[in-house]
Amino acid sequence: QAKTGFVAAVSHEIRTPMNGVIGMTNLLLDSELDEEQRSNVEAVKESGEALLALINDLLDVTKLEAGKVELELANFGLKDLVQRVATLMKPTAQNSGNTITIEIAADVPPHVQGDAGRLRQVLFNLVGNAIKFTEHGTVAISVAKVGGEAARPLLRFEVRDSGVGIAPAVQDSLFDKFTQADPSIAGRYGGTGLGLAVCRELVTLMDGEIGLDSTPGQGSRFWFTVALPRAAAPAPAPTKTGAAPTETKTAAAARALTILLAEDNPINQRLAIALLTKAGHRVEAVDNGAKAVRAVSERTYDLVLMDIQMPELDGLEAARQIRALPGAAARTPIVAMTANAMAGDREKYLAAGMDDYLSKPIDMALLSTVIERFSPAAAQQSEAPQAPPSSPARGRKIPFSELEDTMEADALQGLVVKYIVDSQTRMQRAREAVRTGNHEALLREAHDLKGALGLFGAAEASRCAGRITQACRNEQHQEAATLVDELAVAVEEMLSDLAKRYPQADAAAHSCAPQSNIGAPRQSGPIRRAPTVRPREPKIP
Ligand code: ADP
Repeated sequence: QAKTGFVAAVSHEIRTPMNGVIGMTNLLLDSELDEEQRSNVEAVKESGEALLALINDLLDVTKLEAGKVELELANFGLKDLVQRVATLMKPTAQNSGNTITIEIAADVPPHVQGDAGRLRQVLFNLVGNAIKFTEHGTVAISVAKVGGEAARPLLRFEVRDSGVGIAPAVQDSLFDKFTQADPSIAGRYGGTGLGLAVCRELVTLMDGEIGLDSTPGQGSRFWFTVALPRAAAPAPAPTKTGAAPTETKTAAAARALTILLAEDNPINQRLAIALLTKAGHRVEAVDNGAKAVRAVSERTYDLVLMDIQMPELDGLEAARQIRALPGAAARTPIVAMTANAMAGDREKYLAAGMDDYLSKPIDMALLSTVIERFSPAAAQQSEAPQAPPSSPARGRKIPFSELEDTMEADALQGLVVKYIVDSQTRMQRAREAVRTGNHEALLREAHDLKGALGLFGAAEASRCAGRITQACRNEQHQEAATLVDELAVAVEEMLSDLAKRYPQADAAAHSCAPQSNIGAPRQSGPIRRAPTVRPREPKIP
């Protein structure tokens, strides 16, 4: 734990200035430079990115080993993912005279459910290595179905190269940290020996296997297998009747926001202002939490971007104080910007009343997505009657009724099973939190239940969960505890309603161990409904 904490703290300290270095370099590259200056700045950028990659690997491996990485579950297109990896790696491959090919077997499902980001990370590592250790050859990425059930096929990803190969004696230890097959070769190519260790941890987290076979002088084949549930193609974004003609206009108008930036590091502040202004927003900046609270109480902002570690008043406390302001100011969306990338941090931010978080160095594409979500047009949409509460986490949740229309039956069943297990687990944890007086945990569970219940159209239960979060924030713990009993009944209603609509999924939820990755804790046995709750007749939906 001390090691994890240390690595997290150090990587935070390194990532924050790196944010400034890389960001400023990008701005510099956008300006007028002569050839030599441009090449120097590009070298700074490359070194910065290499350093950042190292920090990320170090942090990743530490977090993975400490069991602090949670997979994010979403539907994604498998071919797109592989294609994107190949496209992004193509220039690097071409530099060393390599070609990249892709083969995806016909029976591989086009859309699957899983953690696309982590899968991409593994592929990037393997393809990166294949290119690094191959000159004037080929790198082939392939995906094939090698077993599993129809609804959850076992897929085998392979990255083959025609490069230097690896001696049999060292093949087994390559997945260990800081191991390189041939230090003289590795010295020439650079690297830390962390990439494959991260890959193995990630694949293991996905319940998969990873391995290699290789012949020195001929090339290597790295492979991994993971079972990924089949998913339906993503539904097109819902459009409201009559809203279509004005949509582009509204979106464009909504894009220019008035943003309050609370950031104490002057370089990061300048960088964020430059990026946001370039994207057409109006930005006001302050350098501590107290000033942020004052600004929000005096003027109206569409969004507050809040650094966490700031002098006088930190971002968390500032968020709490903003949420306690009178009137509409209290509802100003707040997004945390932080170089703290540890699991568990998100909960802290949400508990302080923040709506989302972005990790630094700021990725402009991610920032734009977040900004779009908090633009006035998006807010109007989310205030539509019966709309489920929007998810505070990254990625939008789709109302359940829409999933019913668009998802394949198997995938839908799988989702329902997960939700049943997840809701029960969260309810159980909420009760436990009341019992042990852990107010932060209660707030977290209630917050997440609010979203999940909304998704299933259980509006009343979702509101009840919302009242619990409010009571927790106001430190009305007795009130919160009473509301938990009320919520338990409401959740039970939702569950029996679901059981009627999806008897198979309900049975499966009670007979299988919960899958760990939708937020449920890793436990070995099935979780039964709390016996203290008296089941009621379900309401007719
Ligand atoms: P590094 O950052 O050093 O590349 P990795 O963990 O990704 O760390 O790889 C560890 C070692 O495995 C590399 O240094 C290299 O010796 C060997 N290796 C990995 N992939 C290949 C490959 N495709 N061909 C030859 N050697 C490889």
